[in-house]
Amino acid sequence: MEGFKTIIEPFKIKMVESIKVTTEAQREKFLKDAHYNPFLLSSDQVMIDFLTDSGTSAMSANQWAGMMQGDESYAGSNSWLRMEKTIRDLTGFEYIFPTHQGRAAERILYGYLGGKGKVFISNTHFDTTRANIEFSGAEAIDIPIPEATHPALEHPFKGNLDTVKLEAAIKQHGAKNIGAVILTVTNNSGGGQPVSMKNTREISRICKKYKVLFVLDCCRVAENAYFIRHREKSFEKRSYKSIAQEMFSLTDGAIMSAKKDALVNMGGFLALKSKTHADACKNLLIITEGFTTYGGLSGRDMEAIAIGLEEVFEDDYLNYRISSTTFFGEHLKKLGVPLMTPIGGHAVYIDAKKFYNHIPVHKYPGQALVCELYLKGGIRSVEIGSVMFGKYDEKGKLIPAPMELVRLAIPRRVYTQSHIEFAIEVFEKLIKEKKSAKGLEIIEEPKFLRHFSAKFKR
Ligand SMILES: *Cc1c(COP(=O)(O)O)cnc(C)c1O
Repeated sequence: MEGFKTIIEPFKIKMVESIKVTTEAQREKFLKDAHYNPFLLSSDQVMIDFLTDSGTSAMSANQWAGMMQGDESYAGSNSWLRMEKTIRDLTGFEYIFPTHQGRAAERILYGYLGGKGKVFISNTHFDTTRANIEFSGAEAIDIPIPEATHPALEHPFKGNLDTVKLEAAIKQHGAKNIGAVILTVTNNSGGGQPVSMKNTREISRICKKYKVLFVLDCCRVAENAYFIRHREKSFEKRSYKSIAQEMFSLTDGAIMSAKKDALVNMGGFLALKSKTHADACKNLLIITEGFTTYGGLSGRDMEAIAIGLEEVFEDDYLNYRISSTTFFGEHLKKLGVPLMTPIGGHAVYIDAKKFYNHIPVHKYPGQALVCELYLKGGIRSVEIGSVMFGKYDEKGKLIPAPMELVRLAIPRRVYTQSHIEFAIEVFEKLIKEKKSAKGLEIIEEPKFLRHFSAKFKR
């Protein structure tokens, strides 16, 4: 609120979900039983769950009321018509398909556009996006601006795509071999960093020039609109929704995981301008997701998505959402916690290699921080470093990831400011007890995606 320091949630609480308060001794045992991998904890052993912002939103009273009105008809469901109308109004696209989550829309579109010899270019492909493209046999290239790879460097739009490299890449591979240019807003893998309208316009111009398809990965398009209004000239007075609408108007289609900015727990969609592409995708949708008026979703889910997509653009909500994430990050920065800056929209990223500089990379400083956060504060977070991305050479020696980060992702409308303040206090404790933090060793791991199920010892 203007003129006040305290951030208040722009909502009251009608229904509560209790958190089981645990002691450090209890958490010590839970963590040991989970082999020092918080993915293996059960959720009731966690007090504050910052594992992900995906599918963890709290729905509003209006959304719950909408659930009761869900029309479960197989064809022509009214809930679908409502969801379709909301998305058409937001995106301006004619052809809209519901899917059970974002990656289903990705598999359909990139499976169709991809295949051997095709190349996709993005500011940063999200991991499911890259997986779907590579699974089709195509190649996925990331070209963020150079500033994006420096954790502590300040830049207002660190999510931008390097447009000089884009044009060069299109020329190098040949326009007809480009499956699509995909702009991820905000840039999830790059720390939730925003993309400017200016950058989007330039990408649009280049894509039009070479007749290349331009797709928006719009999971966090509302959060991105917040940054445009507050950081980019001439957008100060624009509504968040009109900023998002302008962004869509520069592209040829969009993919969304509704588990982010649609404020629901499950769902997604694919939206396209071209009838030719839409017809091809429609066939794949019916074969693998469901008929065009539900695509893997219940009527009640579609009702909740339609309402969530309206609520997410409200001024009070977005102002609170981003202020709260910024508050968290800025306070940690004041304490001297090394962070990725500027603070992004949905998460705070800690540079664990710097924070625990006494723990060598092969002892996983990120995982050590994840464990300490849980032990001292019951907070669950995720390592994004060598546990997630590390590989081994022929001799079995670790090839570390470029950065050792820990992500604290904030679920939407779930935790209050006092939870955030508590988390800041936990960090104060971690700073005092830094030297006692210990590294870990992996004792068991699967071949793929090892971070989900690896077992550690301390
Ligand atoms: C979550 C996410 C996806 C995938 O969506 P799911 O609903 O998890 O399948 C794709 N892109 C981005 C940027 C995401 O954050």
